[in-house]
Amino acid sequence: MGTINREWHDAHVMPARPTEEQRGAWHAAHQEACGCRAPSPRERELIDRWRAAHPAPPSHPWPPSTHESA
Ligand SMILES: [Zn+2]
Repeated sequence: MGTINREWHDAHVMPARPTEEQRGAWHAAHQEACGCRAPSPRERELIDRWRAAHPAPPSHPWPPSTHESA
């Protein structure tokens, strides 16, 4: 804990008046990219709700690569 990912923060500035969607996305990404602080219970709630509404993308890219041998 306590290590700030300055690069990530510079690239991910929270909008001045963020929507709940924006805050959820920001905190979900922040939790994974940076360890500067732990999310508050309220922020964890936002993250959980945002993740439920935005399932992780499939691990395989789509459309599938045509370079793979069939
Ligand atoms: Zn951070």
